[in-house]
Amino acid sequence: MENGVLLAEIAKKIGVCQRCSLWKGTKHAVPGEGNSAAKVMFIGEAPGFYEDQVGRPFVGAAGKLLTQSLEEVGISREEVFIGNVIKHRPPENRDPLPTEISACRTWLDQQLEVIRPKIVVTLGRYSLARFVTAAKISVVHGKLTKAGKQLVLPMYHPAAALRSPALLEEFKRDFMNNKEILKNPDLAAERVSGEEDDDSPQLDLF
Ligand code: URA
Repeated sequence: MENGVLLAEIAKKIGVCQRCSLWKGTKHAVPGEGNSAAKVMFIGEAPGFYEDQVGRPFVGAAGKLLTQSLEEVGISREEVFIGNVIKHRPPENRDPLPTEISACRTWLDQQLEVIRPKIVVTLGRYSLARFVTAAKISVVHGKLTKAGKQLVLPMYHPAAALRSPALLEEFKRDFMNNKEILKNPDLAAERVSGEEDDDSPQLDLF
């Protein structure tokens, strides 16, 4: 079956998901959106207020920064896929609980299985932890790494960047420094620093 159809089926299931209780009190599930054959997939933490209102990822202030940063390196939102670790908004935007993260895990796994992106860009620590455990974002951000066979580019969360001028600078620099591979993800495999080895961060994919 075609990728778009498969993703639509997954989105439909996410729309009625009750695997944890986050769905209570939300307006919409936010499955993610974008190119079903995207070579680059951006993964945030969880929907916020505006995302919950419309059922789309990264449409608030953090989303504006993400969209603008993509455009600054010559990439449109439509070219990539944008999603989240958690598909329903946690109340008051609180951090997701471990039980919620594990309940929601299957949806991102299924989306990754369909899209098979060359590069996953993790936005923030929850997304990073989904792929690479025991890695500090302040150390690994902006550096392409490998989680099993998956290339992962950790970045700060745009909402964190909006709260700190220093992080905003780092966030923008990470985009600029990785412009070439974000635009030509096929080149990325050659650019990854250090092959998968015993020293690479512990893997936590699928
Ligand atoms: N923050 C996220 O992590 N995801 C969104 O979709 C919006 C804000």
